[in-house]
Amino acid sequence: MSRSAHPAGPRHADVLPEGHYSGPAADLNELDPKVWAQTVTRDDDANGVVTVGGIDVKTLAERHGTPAYVLDEDDFRQRARAWRTAFGHDADVFYAGKAFLSRAVVRWLHEEGLNLDVCSGGELATALSAGMPADRIAFHGNNKSVSEITRAIEAGVGRIVLDSFQEIVRVAHIAQSLGKRQPVQIRITVGVEAHTHEFIATAHEDQKFGIPLAGGQAAEAVRRALQLDGLEVIGIHSHIGSQIFDMSGFEVAAHRVVGLLKDIRDEHGVELPEIDLGGGLGIAYTSDDDPREPHEIAKALTEIVTRECDSAKLRTPRISVEPGRAIVGPTAFTLYEVGTIKPLDGLRTYVSVDGGMSDNIRTALYDAEYSVALVSRRSDAEPMLARVVGKHCESGDIVVKDAFLPGDLAPGDLIAVPATGAYCRSMASNYNHVLRPPVVAVKDGESRVIVRRETEEDLLRLDVG
Ligand SMILES: *Cc1c(COP(=O)(O)O)cnc(C)c1O
Repeated sequence: MSRSAHPAGPRHADVLPEGHYSGPAADLNELDPKVWAQTVTRDDDANGVVTVGGIDVKTLAERHGTPAYVLDEDDFRQRARAWRTAFGHDADVFYAGKAFLSRAVVRWLHEEGLNLDVCSGGELATALSAGMPADRIAFHGNNKSVSEITRAIEAGVGRIVLDSFQEIVRVAHIAQSLGKRQPVQIRITVGVEAHTHEFIATAHEDQKFGIPLAGGQAAEAVRRALQLDGLEVIGIHSHIGSQIFDMSGFEVAAHRVVGLLKDIRDEHGVELPEIDLGGGLGIAYTSDDDPREPHEIAKALTEIVTRECDSAKLRTPRISVEPGRAIVGPTAFTLYEVGTIKPLDGLRTYVSVDGGMSDNIRTALYDAEYSVALVSRRSDAEPMLARVVGKHCESGDIVVKDAFLPGDLAPGDLIAVPATGAYCRSMASNYNHVLRPPVVAVKDGESRVIVRRETEEDLLRLDVG
């Protein structure tokens, strides 16, 4: 990725773009519940140390080391349940496993009644090994291999989401050779792309996923799929973006998907029973973000689809959604130990932590914004403008670009970056042979490693000399 659009070098505080950072919060000791997992609190009896799941972060650091992803199990379950309840029994919630997947998470999802999206053989293996029933798994991806498709069909996955003309034939052929008829959805691109507060309805069919609605291609895909004995076409799939707050992109997408369902009915005399509107619902990374609650999203989506179907005189199909970030994102924070602190006169203070872009690539990759707080103690020192950076050999190795931390921050302090549950551990790398951090689940005063820390032995085991 070209870095030219995002200069990584320091910029003077005075020239920070408007709205990029909003000045120090009145009290840096305060933890905004919007961005922190539900059980996170600061314990004012114990020097202001932060606790989560009933355990303080100093104890967690001693027990499990740093950096570590600390995940609030109750919060995870509660969010999963909120989505499930909001959509009710006439809809399905598929958790998008790519956001963060481990066997413990699969069990929690199973217990809370959610389904699961996977998009590789590795994710499928994780899901099956933790006992997720295959018929509650959907298999995604723009380039599934023959062996992945074969394993998915043999396992009996509930649906495969077809992503290209070639895959229609490939999946049909494999299913037939296994003597099966595989339920499939066809993923289409509706010409809408949504990110955060905006959506664009122009040429966003220019991407690798899905089959364009434009030019009758999606209709042609359905035509071909309906003729193949190995496939049972159960619905149409659309996923329009990520970190979305504005429902109008879904509105346009639903309108176009239902338009296709109507064309299918008119041409083939079949009403496909399902539509999937994908994931992409936004979370609060900073106090400036205002995500919607699952029940508001469910209500809005259900109303949109029902209205569109009524006007097309179609039976309302069963809806499914695929939230990843919105379930796991807010449930975890990354706990780091502060190392070198380097004040640059008139600019900002660089605060180095014991991880970095290897445990959170989102800032470098997407220019993502995060918050940060001192969590091992309270401090009433003057705020300082800080940039939290990692230990990697790359000047773009930034975890939090602009944030205020107490001016008396010192090596050995613990700081935490909230809302790192999604797309941090799952995108983690071994850059510089840094070892990937563990994921520690906390609940009722207990901590439990659900993904252990990588060791130098792990590294050397892969390197067969
Ligand atoms: C990435 C993805 C999701 C999940 O997106 P979130 O932003 O994590 O909610 C859901 N469905 C599909 C097809 C995806 O590619």
